[in-house]
Amino acid sequence: MADDATPIDLTRQVRAHLESLRSAGVMFVPRGEPIALAPLRVAVTPRQAEPLPPPPPDPIAVRKRELTVLATEVEKCDRCPELFSTRRQTVFGVGPIDPDVAFIGEAPGGDEDRAGEPFVGKAGQLLTRIINGCGFKREEVYIFNTLKCRPPGATGSGSANRPPTLEECENCRPFFERQFDIVKPKHVVALGGTAAKNLLNTSTGITKLRGKVYTLRGVPLICTFHPSAMLRDETEKTRRAIWEDMKLLLKTMGRPNPNEKKA
Ligand code: SF4
Repeated sequence: MADDATPIDLTRQVRAHLESLRSAGVMFVPRGEPIALAPLRVAVTPRQAEPLPPPPPDPIAVRKRELTVLATEVEKCDRCPELFSTRRQTVFGVGPIDPDVAFIGEAPGGDEDRAGEPFVGKAGQLLTRIINGCGFKREEVYIFNTLKCRPPGATGSGSANRPPTLEECENCRPFFERQFDIVKPKHVVALGGTAAKNLLNTSTGITKLRGKVYTLRGVPLICTFHPSAMLRDETEKTRRAIWEDMKLLLKTMGRPNPNEKKA
Protein backbone atom coordinates (compact mmCIF):
# COMPACT_ATOMS: atom_id res chain seq x y z
CA MET A 1 0.00 0.00 0.00
CA ALA A 2 1.31 3.41 -1.00
CA ASP A 3 0.62 4.74 2.44
CA ASP A 4 3.06 2.19 3.87
CA ALA A 5 5.88 3.03 1.34
CA THR A 6 9.18 4.10 2.93
CA PRO A 7 11.33 6.83 1.23
CA ILE A 8 13.57 3.99 -0.21
CA ASP A 9 10.50 2.30 -1.73
CA LEU A 10 9.38 5.60 -3.24
CA THR A 11 12.83 6.16 -4.82
CA ARG A 12 12.72 2.70 -6.27
CA GLN A 13 9.24 3.18 -7.63
CA VAL A 14 10.15 6.56 -9.20
CA ARG A 15 13.26 5.03 -10.77
CA ALA A 16 11.20 2.11 -12.15
CA HIS A 17 8.68 4.58 -13.52
CA LEU A 18 11.39 6.59 -15.24
CA GLU A 19 12.91 3.42 -16.72
CA SER A 20 9.56 2.46 -18.19
CA LEU A 21 9.20 5.97 -19.65
CA ARG A 22 12.68 5.72 -21.21
CA SER A 23 11.81 2.35 -22.75
CA ALA A 24 8.71 4.02 -24.17
CA GLY A 25 10.99 6.66 -25.85
CA VAL A 26 10.49 9.53 -23.39
CA MET A 27 13.95 11.08 -23.10
CA PHE A 28 13.28 13.74 -20.49
CA VAL A 29 10.65 14.81 -18.10
CA PRO A 30 10.05 18.57 -17.60
CA ARG A 31 11.26 19.77 -14.32
CA GLY A 32 8.53 21.24 -12.17
CA GLU A 33 8.78 24.95 -11.48
CA PRO A 34 7.84 26.20 -8.08
CA ILE A 35 4.40 27.65 -8.18
CA ALA A 36 4.33 31.27 -7.20
CA LEU A 37 1.43 31.69 -4.93
CA ALA A 38 -0.36 34.97 -5.09
CA PRO A 39 -0.33 36.65 -1.74
CA LEU A 40 -3.41 35.86 0.18
CA ARG A 41 -5.71 38.79 0.09
CA VAL A 42 -8.36 38.96 2.71
CA ALA A 43 -11.02 41.57 2.16
CA VAL A 44 -11.03 43.61 5.30
CA THR A 45 -14.01 45.82 5.76
CA PRO A 46 -12.89 48.97 7.53
CA ARG A 47 -14.58 49.21 10.86
CA GLN A 48 -17.33 51.78 10.66
CA ALA A 49 -16.69 54.63 13.08
CA GLU A 50 -19.54 54.65 15.55
CA PRO A 51 -20.97 58.11 16.22
CA LEU A 52 -20.01 59.42 19.65
CA PRO A 53 -22.89 59.90 22.05
CA PRO A 54 -23.79 63.59 22.36
CA PRO A 55 -22.26 65.33 25.37
CA PRO A 56 -24.61 65.62 28.35
CA PRO A 57 -26.54 68.91 28.13
CA ASP A 58 -25.26 71.78 30.26
CA PRO A 59 -28.06 72.16 32.83
CA ILE A 60 -27.49 75.90 33.24
CA ALA A 61 -27.65 76.45 29.46
CA VAL A 62 -30.88 74.40 29.34
CA ARG A 63 -32.45 76.55 32.06
CA LYS A 64 -31.33 79.78 30.36
CA ARG A 65 -33.02 78.54 27.19
CA GLU A 66 -36.19 77.75 29.17
CA LEU A 67 -36.11 81.27 30.59
CA THR A 68 -35.81 82.77 27.10
CA VAL A 69 -38.75 80.66 25.91
CA LEU A 70 -40.80 81.83 28.90
CA ALA A 71 -39.87 85.50 28.31
CA THR A 72 -41.03 85.14 24.69
CA GLU A 73 -44.37 83.72 25.89
CA VAL A 74 -44.74 86.62 28.32
CA GLU A 75 -44.04 89.13 25.54
CA LYS A 76 -47.08 87.86 23.61
CA CYS A 77 -49.38 87.57 26.61
CA ASP A 78 -52.74 89.38 26.50
CA ARG A 79 -54.45 87.77 29.51
CA CYS A 80 -54.99 91.16 31.16
CA PRO A 81 -56.68 93.28 28.46
CA GLU A 82 -56.00 96.67 30.05
CA LEU A 83 -52.35 95.92 30.86
CA PHE A 84 -51.81 94.43 27.43
CA SER A 85 -53.24 97.47 25.68
CA THR A 86 -51.41 100.10 27.77
CA ARG A 87 -47.95 98.58 28.32
CA ARG A 88 -44.98 99.70 26.25
CA GLN A 89 -43.37 96.33 26.80
CA THR A 90 -43.31 93.46 29.26
CA VAL A 91 -40.70 93.55 32.03
CA PHE A 92 -39.44 90.04 32.67
CA GLY A 93 -36.46 90.05 35.07
CA VAL A 94 -32.68 90.34 35.24
CA GLY A 95 -29.89 88.44 36.95
CA PRO A 96 -28.14 85.11 37.08
CA ILE A 97 -29.52 81.58 37.39
CA ASP A 98 -29.14 80.03 40.89
CA PRO A 99 -28.62 83.32 42.72
CA ASP A 100 -28.08 83.37 46.48
CA VAL A 101 -30.90 85.87 46.72
CA ALA A 102 -33.69 87.29 44.54
CA PHE A 103 -35.65 90.52 45.12
CA ILE A 104 -39.29 90.50 44.08
CA GLY A 105 -41.41 93.58 43.49
CA GLU A 106 -45.05 93.86 42.65
CA ALA A 107 -45.15 95.16 39.06
CA PRO A 108 -43.20 97.44 36.73
CA GLY A 109 -43.66 101.19 37.11
CA GLY A 110 -43.41 103.89 34.47
CA ASP A 111 -39.59 103.84 34.34
CA GLU A 112 -39.49 100.05 34.09
CA ASP A 113 -42.20 100.02 31.41
CA ARG A 114 -39.97 102.35 29.36
CA ALA A 115 -36.69 100.52 30.06
CA GLY A 116 -37.95 96.92 29.97
CA GLU A 117 -35.99 96.21 33.18
CA PRO A 118 -37.27 95.94 36.76
CA PHE A 119 -36.25 98.45 39.42
CA VAL A 120 -34.67 101.19 37.41
CA GLY A 121 -35.26 104.86 38.25
CA LYS A 122 -35.09 106.25 41.79
CA ALA A 123 -36.58 103.19 43.54
CA GLY A 124 -34.18 101.02 41.55
CA GLN A 125 -31.20 103.11 42.71
CA LEU A 126 -32.32 102.66 46.30
CA LEU A 127 -32.66 98.92 45.75
CA THR A 128 -29.10 98.85 44.40
CA ARG A 129 -27.94 100.56 47.60
CA ILE A 130 -29.79 97.97 49.69
CA ILE A 131 -28.24 95.14 47.65
CA ASN A 132 -24.75 96.65 47.96
CA GLY A 133 -25.29 97.20 51.69
CA CYS A 134 -25.85 93.44 52.03
CA GLY A 135 -22.46 92.83 50.39
CA PHE A 136 -23.75 91.88 46.92
CA LYS A 137 -23.30 93.47 43.53
CA ARG A 138 -26.57 94.16 41.74
CA GLU A 139 -25.63 91.78 38.93
CA GLU A 140 -25.18 88.94 41.45
CA VAL A 141 -28.85 88.90 42.46
CA TYR A 142 -32.00 88.18 40.47
CA ILE A 143 -34.65 90.93 40.31
CA PHE A 144 -38.20 90.44 39.07
CA ASN A 145 -41.84 91.25 39.73
CA THR A 146 -44.94 89.20 40.41
CA LEU A 147 -46.59 90.91 37.40
CA LYS A 148 -44.83 91.41 34.09
CA CYS A 149 -46.85 94.40 32.86
CA ARG A 150 -47.38 97.81 34.31
CA PRO A 151 -50.82 98.49 35.78
CA PRO A 152 -51.41 101.99 34.42
CA GLY A 153 -51.66 105.03 36.69
CA ALA A 154 -54.92 105.25 38.61
CA THR A 155 -55.51 108.81 37.50
CA GLY A 156 -54.07 108.28 34.05
CA SER A 157 -51.91 111.32 34.71
CA GLY A 158 -48.46 110.28 35.82
CA SER A 159 -46.13 107.42 36.50
CA ALA A 160 -47.90 106.12 39.63
CA ASN A 161 -49.31 102.63 39.22
CA ARG A 162 -52.68 101.55 40.43
CA PRO A 163 -52.43 98.32 42.44
CA PRO A 164 -52.92 95.22 40.29
CA THR A 165 -56.33 93.58 40.57
CA LEU A 166 -56.73 90.11 42.05
CA GLU A 167 -57.54 88.78 38.60
CA GLU A 168 -54.34 90.30 37.12
CA CYS A 169 -52.29 88.74 39.92
CA GLU A 170 -53.88 85.36 39.25
CA ASN A 171 -53.35 85.74 35.48
CA CYS A 172 -49.63 86.31 35.91
CA ARG A 173 -48.99 83.82 38.73
CA PRO A 174 -48.18 80.84 36.42
CA PHE A 175 -45.50 82.93 34.66
CA PHE A 176 -44.04 83.99 38.00
CA GLU A 177 -43.98 80.44 39.35
CA ARG A 178 -42.31 79.03 36.22
CA GLN A 179 -39.72 81.81 36.31
CA PHE A 180 -39.10 81.21 40.02
CA ASP A 181 -38.63 77.46 39.48
CA ILE A 182 -36.20 77.95 36.58
CA VAL A 183 -34.11 80.64 38.33
CA LYS A 184 -34.09 78.71 41.65
CA PRO A 185 -33.07 81.49 44.04
CA LYS A 186 -31.79 80.25 47.40
CA HIS A 187 -33.41 83.11 49.36
CA VAL A 188 -36.00 85.70 48.39
CA VAL A 189 -37.05 89.16 49.55
CA ALA A 190 -40.53 90.52 48.88
CA LEU A 191 -40.37 94.28 48.34
CA GLY A 192 -43.49 96.10 49.51
CA GLY A 193 -46.89 95.16 50.85
CA THR A 194 -48.52 94.30 47.51
CA ALA A 195 -45.78 91.84 46.52
CA ALA A 196 -45.69 90.29 50.00
CA LYS A 197 -49.48 89.86 50.14
CA ASN A 198 -49.56 88.41 46.64
CA LEU A 199 -46.73 85.95 47.38
CA LEU A 200 -48.08 84.87 50.76
CA ASN A 201 -51.72 84.97 49.65
CA THR A 202 -52.68 87.05 52.66
CA SER A 203 -54.42 90.34 53.40
CA THR A 204 -52.03 91.15 56.28
CA GLY A 205 -50.13 94.40 55.82
CA ILE A 206 -46.36 94.68 55.38
CA THR A 207 -45.81 96.18 58.84
CA LYS A 208 -47.01 92.93 60.40
CA LEU A 209 -45.48 90.62 57.79
CA ARG A 210 -41.92 91.87 58.18
CA GLY A 211 -39.51 90.57 60.84
CA LYS A 212 -40.25 86.88 60.19
CA VAL A 213 -38.95 84.22 57.84
CA TYR A 214 -41.57 82.57 55.60
CA THR A 215 -41.23 79.88 52.96
CA LEU A 216 -42.03 80.44 49.28
CA ARG A 217 -41.86 77.36 47.06
CA GLY A 218 -39.43 75.79 49.53
CA VAL A 219 -37.21 78.88 49.75
CA PRO A 220 -36.81 81.21 52.79
CA LEU A 221 -38.66 84.50 52.22
CA ILE A 222 -38.20 87.82 54.04
CA CYS A 223 -40.69 90.69 53.59
CA THR A 224 -39.71 94.33 53.74
CA PHE A 225 -40.89 97.76 52.59
CA HIS A 226 -40.70 98.78 48.95
CA PRO A 227 -37.55 100.88 48.36
CA SER A 228 -39.73 103.74 47.08
CA ALA A 229 -41.05 104.09 50.65
CA MET A 230 -37.60 105.45 51.53
CA LEU A 231 -38.21 108.37 49.15
CA ARG A 232 -40.94 109.78 51.41
CA ASP A 233 -39.24 108.64 54.63
CA GLU A 234 -38.53 111.88 56.43
CA THR A 235 -37.85 110.30 59.82
CA GLU A 236 -35.65 107.53 58.39
CA LYS A 237 -37.90 105.03 60.15
CA THR A 238 -38.49 103.05 56.96
CA ARG A 239 -34.80 103.01 56.08
CA ARG A 240 -33.94 101.60 59.52
CA ALA A 241 -36.72 99.03 59.23
CA ILE A 242 -35.42 97.89 55.83
CA TRP A 243 -31.91 97.48 57.27
CA GLU A 244 -33.32 95.44 60.14
CA ASP A 245 -34.97 93.18 57.56
CA MET A 246 -31.73 92.89 55.60
CA LYS A 247 -29.92 91.86 58.77
CA LEU A 248 -32.53 89.12 59.16
CA LEU A 249 -31.90 88.12 55.55
CA LEU A 250 -28.12 87.90 56.09
CA LYS A 251 -28.60 85.93 59.30
CA THR A 252 -30.93 83.51 57.49
CA MET A 253 -28.34 83.17 54.72
CA GLY A 254 -25.55 82.58 57.25
CA ARG A 255 -23.63 85.57 55.89
CA PRO A 256 -21.83 88.17 57.99
CA ASN A 257 -23.28 91.65 58.07
CA PRO A 258 -20.69 93.70 56.12
CA ASN A 259 -21.74 96.85 58.04
CA GLU A 260 -20.90 95.44 61.45
CA LYS A 261 -17.37 96.05 62.62
CA LYS A 262 -15.55 93.01 63.93
CA ALA A 263 -14.77 93.22 67.66
S1 SF4 B 1 -49.55 91.01 33.62
FE1 SF4 B 1 -48.91 88.94 33.15
S2 SF4 B 1 -50.77 87.84 32.72
FE2 SF4 B 1 -51.25 90.03 32.58
S3 SF4 B 1 -50.97 90.55 30.42
FE3 SF4 B 1 -49.05 90.95 31.44
S4 SF4 B 1 -47.84 89.07 31.19
FE4 SF4 B 1 -49.97 88.57 30.78
